[in-house]
Amino acid sequence: MSEYDQPTPMRFALSRRQVVVGAACLAGAGIRATRSPAQTTPYRFRQGDFEITVLSDGHLVLPATIHGLDAPREEVHRLLQEAGLDPDQVKPATNPALIRTRSDLILLDTGSGANFQGTAGKLLDNLKAANIDPKSITKVVFTHAHPDHIWGTIGAGGALNFPNAAYYVSAAEWDFWMDPHLTTKLPEQMHVFVTGAQTNLAAVKDRVTMVKPGDDIVTGLSVLDSSGHTPGHISLVLAGSEGLLIPAGAITEPAVYFPHPEWQFAYDMDNGTAVANRKKLLDRAATDKMKMLGFHWPYPGLGLAERKGTGYQYVPAA
Ligand SMILES: [Zn+2]
Repeated sequence: MSEYDQPTPMRFALSRRQVVVGAACLAGAGIRATRSPAQTTPYRFRQGDFEITVLSDGHLVLPATIHGLDAPREEVHRLLQEAGLDPDQVKPATNPALIRTRSDLILLDTGSGANFQGTAGKLLDNLKAANIDPKSITKVVFTHAHPDHIWGTIGAGGALNFPNAAYYVSAAEWDFWMDPHLTTKLPEQMHVFVTGAQTNLAAVKDRVTMVKPGDDIVTGLSVLDSSGHTPGHISLVLAGSEGLLIPAGAITEPAVYFPHPEWQFAYDMDNGTAVANRKKLLDRAATDKMKMLGFHWPYPGLGLAERKGTGYQYVPAA
C-alpha cells in the first residue's frame, strides 16, 4: 500500500486514480504541438447589456479515463464515440470569454500560459488576432486556480499579461491554494499544480478582490457557488433575458456529464459536492431555459440543457 492509499486528513480525498491522471496530464506538459492557426474571427453574441466574445486558448490533451471514474467504461466509451470524439483520448477546448460592459472589459480566466500543455496557451495570440489589446482588459475573474484557468496570468519573467486589470477570485479558492503547507497535504504529482497556482495568484495579490457566492463582479454579473471541482470553485451568471450560466470547471465534457451528471470526474477534488453542484446547475439551466457557456465545451461552447431520461442532453446554441 502506498502512502497515497492512506486516508488523508483533508476535507477532500484525492484518489489514487486522480493522482495517476494528474501525472499523465503533466507528462504531456511541455510538449510543443504544431501551432493551430490564430483564430481571427472569434464568436460574439449579446447577452442583455453585455457583449460576449468567446476566445480560444487552444485545447488540452488528456486520457479519456478522466471521465466517469465510477461509470462502466464501455458506457463512457459509447457516449464519447456518439459525440464523434476519440474514446481513448479527449481534447477538451479551453475557451476564456470576454465580457464587454459600458465601462469594463472583463476576462473570465486567463488560460494555460506557456508552461502547461503545448496545445494550449494561445489566448494572447488569439486576442492579438482579434485586435484586442490585453492592456485594455479592466477586470479578470478566476473561476478556480487550476493550470488551464490561471497559468496564463503571468508571462515570461513573471510579468502580468493583463497589467491594468483588477482580479477577482473566491476567498475559499485563494485560501486553499495559498496555504503555505499545501504541498505537505497533497501527493507529489500534484505539487506542480500548487506551485503554479501560488505563483500566478501571488502575482496579483496587490490587486485582488476576494468574492463569495452571491456577490456581483459588476451589476448583472454574479458569483454562484459551485465548489467541489476545487474547494472555492465559482460559476457565474450573467443577467439578460433568461440569463446566461457560466459553469466553468463544474461541467466539463458535455457528452458525458449532461446525460450523467452523477458520474465522477478525475479532477473534481470533492466528488460528492461536485456532483451535487453539477446537478443543481443543469437543473437550473433546464428549468429556466438559460443558455450556458462552457469553458471546456466544443468552441464556442454555447448551449442549452434539455431534460432527457434521467439526465440531460447538450444542445449547441451557436
Ligand atoms: Zn479545473
